[in-house]
Formats: sequence, C-alpha cells, structure tokens
Amino acid sequence: MLVDTAKPSSSATIVEFIAQAKTRESAMFTEAEGKSLLSAFGIDTPQGVEIAVGEELPSHLREPLVVKAISTTLVHKSDAGGVRVGVTRAEINEVASQMRDSLADFGHKLDGLLVEEMVPAGHEIIVGAVRAPGLGWTVMVGLGGVLVEVFEDVAFGLAPLSENQIRDMLAELRGMKVLNGARGGVKADIDALVALISRLAGPAGLLASLPEDVTEIDLNPVIVSDTRAVAVDARFVVGEVEAKPAAAIEAKSTDFAPLFAPRRIAVLGASGKRPNLANRFIRNLVAGGFDGTIIPVNPTTPVIEGLPAVASLAEVIEPIDYAFVALPAARVAEALGAGAGRVRFAQVVSSGFSEIEEGIELEAQLVSTVRDAGIRLIGPNCLGTHASAGKLSFVPEAPLTPGTTAVVSQSGGLSVDILRVGASSGIDFHSVVSIGNSADVSAAELVSSHLVNDEIRVIGLYLESLSIAREVLDVLDAAETRKPVVLLAGGRTSGGSRAATSHTGALAGNHRLWPAIARQAGITLVDSLADFATALHALSTVDLGVKPNGNEAVLFGNGGGASVLGADALDRQGISTTPLPESVIAELESLEVPPGNGFHNPIDVPAGTLAVKSGGVAGDILKVVLAGSEPAVLITHLNVGIIQRNLGATHGDVTGTIIDSIAAARDESQSNTHQLLVLKSDGSAGTGDMVKAYAQRARAIGIPVFGAFEDAALASRAVLEQSKQIHQASLGADGRQ
Ligand code: ADP
Ligand code: MG
Repeated sequence: MLVDTAKPSSSATIVEFIAQAKTRESAMFTEAEGKSLLSAFGIDTPQGVEIAVGEELPSHLREPLVVKAISTTLVHKSDAGGVRVGVTRAEINEVASQMRDSLADFGHKLDGLLVEEMVPAGHEIIVGAVRAPGLGWTVMVGLGGVLVEVFEDVAFGLAPLSENQIRDMLAELRGMKVLNGARGGVKADIDALVALISRLAGPAGLLASLPEDVTEIDLNPVIVSDTRAVAVDARFVVGEVEAKPAAAIEAKSTDFAPLFAPRRIAVLGASGKRPNLANRFIRNLVAGGFDGTIIPVNPTTPVIEGLPAVASLAEVIEPIDYAFVALPAARVAEALGAGAGRVRFAQVVSSGFSEIEEGIELEAQLVSTVRDAGIRLIGPNCLGTHASAGKLSFVPEAPLTPGTTAVVSQSGGLSVDILRVGASSGIDFHSVVSIGNSADVSAAELVSSHLVNDEIRVIGLYLESLSIAREVLDVLDAAETRKPVVLLAGGRTSGGSRAATSHTGALAGNHRLWPAIARQAGITLVDSLADFATALHALSTVDLGVKPNGNEAVLFGNGGGASVLGADALDRQGISTTPLPESVIAELESLEVPPGNGFHNPIDVPAGTLAVKSGGVAGDILKVVLAGSEPAVLITHLNVGIIQRNLGATHGDVTGTIIDSIAAARDESQSNTHQLLVLKSDGSAGTGDMVKAYAQRARAIGIPVFGAFEDAALASRAVLEQSKQIHQASLGADGRQ
C-alpha cells in the first residue's frame, strides 16, 4: 500500500485515524497519518511513502533517505533500532531486515516501512501539545536533545496562540541564543518556526480542529534550518476524554457594591450558649465600628451577642445585603432558601461541600437553591469577606483603612495572612474576598467587576486551580480596561499532569503552566506571600500612568557593597544597571560635594555627601540623572541608621529632606521614570520606628518603600511588567478608534 504523506485530510479522515489508533496498543496515529494531517494544515513534512518490506520504492524520492519502522506497539522508534538515516535505495532491503531483527529483540513486530527523504541538518526543536483539564490545549516548545532531556528548557503557552505570543514563548527559552546562531552555529529561520507553531496552535490551527479524543501531540523533532522548519516526526496520541468541567455560569451583571458596603448583615449560625465562628464574626463587626444593622438568625435563642435575633430569614422583611453563614453543611440550603428574594449575597463559610466526595451533591443542591432564591453565593468552604470602607471583616482587629487594592483568594486561611502581611507592607485594602469552592461567584466574575470598579486600582489573586486562572485570563483578554494584576499561585508542583506518552505531556507540570498563563494574561506571577505583598504595595503606590521606558535601573544611595548587591538583585529580575552616559557623569562630577563618590551607576555617595544641603543634594543629583538618562526605574537606597547616627545631630532630618527632594526631582523632571526607595534599618528599635515613619511619608507622596533591595527589585519588575500591559492596552484602545 502506498500512502502519500502529503495528501490533505478531511475531518472524516481524522475520525477514521482515531478509530484505527484505538485498535493499536500504542493508541497512536501512524506517523504517516500524523504527517498527512500536518501537511493538510500547511506544516512542512518530509516527502515520504509507506511500503511493505520488500516492496519497491517509488522513483520520486531522492536520496539520502530515512527508513523508519512501522509497528502497532512501537512508540519510541529509535530506542528499538527503528530509525536509520542516510540510507540509499540499494540499502533499503538490508536495512529492513536488520530493523526486523532489532525490533524483535524489543518485542515488536515490523509491519512495514516509512521511507522519507532526509531533511538537511538544522536545529532540532520539539514542538508539542497536550490537553490539560480545564485548560484546553497547552502548547510546548523546546530545544531538542540535551537541552530538553537534561535541562528541560521548554516554554508553554495556551492555545490559541497569536504569533506574538509564540515569539514570547521562544524568548523564554534559555537556549534561544543557540537558535540565533551562537558560537558559529546555524542561524535558524525563526519566522518559519513561528509559522509552523501558528499552523499547529494558532486560532485556525490544527489543534482547534482536532476532536477531544486526541490528547497529546509531539513533533519531535522539528528540524529548523536557515530556510525551513520541517516536522520530521509526528506522534498523535489518542486518550481518555477528560471529564468536562462544570458548565460555565451564564454571564450575570451582579452589582457587587452592596457586598463591599453592606448596610444590613444577617449572621446564621451564632450561638446563645457556646461562642463560635459566627459569634466572633459579630464581635469583629462591632469592634470594627460597623454602623449598619446586624441581624443574628437563630431558631431557638432570641438574643445573640446582645442583639435581637430572628428565628429564620423568613422573618426578615427588609433586604439583607450580606448573610454570613456558618451552619452545618446539610442545613445551609434550607436556611438560605427562607431568605429568597431578600438576600443579595450569602457567604457560606461552612465546609463539607464539594471539597469532599460526600459534599458534591450538597453543593449542587445549595447552588440550585440560591439561584432560585436570587441570592449570589460566595464560597462555600471559605472564611469571609473583608471590605475596608464597609467596615466588614472576618479578621479580628483587621486593618480597615480604605485602599485601592482588591484581593480574591481561593484560600481562606491565606486571606488572613494577606491582610496582615499586606497591611504591614503598607497596603491599604479595598477588599479581600475568600471564595473557597467558588460554587457560584467565581474569581473571574469578581475580577471582571473589579476591572470596572473605580475604587480599585490593583488586583491581587491567590489561586490554586489552573482552570480558574484560565477563566481569569479569558476575562482579562476580553476586558476593555486594564489594571495591574498580581498572582500568587499555590500548588506549583513539578509532577507531570498525567501519565503521558508524549514528551510534552511528561513536561506539562503545573509549575510550567502557571508561568504560561501569567505571561499570556499579562499578570505578574510571584512565589511567596511576602513577594505578593511587595508587588501589590508597589503597584498601588506608583503612578502607573508613567510609560515604561526600557529595562534599565539607576541606583543611588550610600553604601558601595549594598548597591552592588542591589544591582545583582535587579539583574535576577531581568533589569540591568548600565553606566550612565559620560555627559551625565561629567555633570554629576561638577556638583560641589566632598570627594569619595562613584557616579557611574550605581551612584555611591558617602554619608558626608548626603549631608550637603542637609540632604537636598539628593535632589540635585537626581535631577541631573533624570534629565540626562531617564531610566525605567530609579532606586534610592538609604542606610537610615548610619545617616541618623553620623548626621542626625549636626544636619537635622537628612532622610526626610532626601525623601522630599527625590519627590521634587520627580515632579520637576516629568520623566518616565518610576522611583522606588529602600530604607535600611540597623536593627535597633529606635531606627526601626524612624524607618516606619519615613516609609509612611514616602508612600504618601507616591514613592513605594522597601526594607531590602531584593524586594525593591521584585517591585521594579512588577511595576515595569504591569505598566507595559497598561500602556499596550491604551495603545490598543487608541488603535481601535
Ligand atoms: P523516534 O520515534 O525515535 O523519535 P524519529 O522519527 O524522531 O524517531 O527519528 C529519530 C531521529 O532521526 C530524529 O530525531 C532525527 O534526528 C532523525 N530523523 C528522522 N527523520 C528524519 C528526516 N526525514 N530527515 C532528517 N532526519 C531525520
Ligand atoms: Mg522523534
């Protein structure tokens, strides 16, 4: 039988391929079938034919040839001696008989041969795709051979991918230099590779037209030379269809304002005898100064926490903005059903729902009850909602200063930490919503409402589920407004997502998919709670209207070693510290200051220089820098302990003057530079308090403050990433006019 691998395929053919694959132990399309599909989508494959052993080769194939074994059980052909390259026509029968023996040694039967033209040498790239539950096709690209096998130097993206997104993926590869012809190697035709990936994973690509039965694809390798990108191997794996995720909730246009500023709150589950979670919630409300109405609901006790209780929500006549529900799981649906038509939001903190097998049905019942009752449900299995302006919080002694940072958290416990750590990093929160199982109100819905809420400037997400992150990505993609978003992702384990036949499947661990989602959604991904707070603090403090201006930083401050470490920390975040232009250095050198300064960048000055004009010299230095170089970020770092000890008595409030003068330099220059401040304490209590006060002063005038360079470096990355997103979005909006 002859199969021309260049023959285009219809969807009926694909269905036939799938049926055939299911009969094979390998559960794969034959290589020729896979390649015929690829070429139907415009992906370059070698000329080739399938022949029986001993059958004559058609004359159009040119030497040198590649001979590959066909066998229903074989997955990795070369492992069993099933691939021979550089073969002549005359050698084919000899090669075939060697192949038959070699396959037999590994327990495989040789059913035929795929004979192909040999593609000229180039870079071997692996391109693959695997379906991930709730995410759709995740697409991988990596440099073949050692770089993939040993260093796992791969990048993932989520289909459909635009050409720009494909280029961003490639840029993430450490081995990209090799493709660009490093060390005298071939300069790969990157455009051809991008086109190939686009034909596979673009909006009209092959992946989009594959039925769900196809679960993994490996093109390993794609040989990329200076003129072509050719898929010389194709593995299409047929697998179990993933259970479909729950049908997406139909779009609702809920007004979330009453959730964040409730006037009437019902509390279900508080006890007259033994104080519990719900009692503590009431106490927190009272202690926090909540000035609306609190209505405890309890069927047996008329007074709870000194407040008159009702027996059921059925007795409540006026609407309830927010119901806090801490009842045993089995009683929640009925209790809420009694409030039909009068309760806007119900937060069910109780656990025992879909997070455990036995609770799945209970959660489904709860959802159907609240939908019928016109109630929006938050949770279940969460801790509560914090809203500063509404003086609503589930956290004792919560920081209630209203702010512009809104957080959505999949974890209840962590939302408490976010509030506390965040507040001590200088963040004032608009809100923190713990969404638990998000059976009704989803993270994506909250993000979509946050995007149009003028009180909110910055959005923080703590998520553990990739599919929830994907929903947020889709919301951000579709949104007309752009706000900075920071993601702290839980569960970034390195295990493969499933038992995989393909290389791609084996490498598609969560730890690789989170960065892919973050990159495509334009979200800043952070690794720890501390970094989350650092990024949110920076983004809620700086002026994001400032256009991002390259990727360079200037450091200024006292302490030579400190600034070297600072430059290193910036480098780790992909931000460079290059010397200032000669003209700027010359101008700095002409300032009237004591000797001992380094003006190249980092700009290192001893405390004696900072004493000039009691610190006002900082303004002179920064004005020169901003006028002559306009870096993307400018980080001033001050060792407050040393400055106060050496200069405090003689020169007054040097640190305060420096803070004011860097703000003045910023305002005067109108440059596109973001200013950040590192204030270092010497560990003594006195300096610590001083630093806190200075930090507040700086934040109030739009300068974020950090205790260490590492934090300022991370913050710089977050600010540059997010201002780039915002700027691009506004460019896009202009472009559409
Ligand atoms: P395997 O099942 O072992 O992955 P491949 O089809 O990928 O088999 O072939 C093994 C190797 O042989 C490839 O990595 C590539 O280096 C080389 N090769 C295969 N087909 C061709 C071809 N048509 N032209 C050039 N080299 C090829
Ligand atoms: Mg291969």
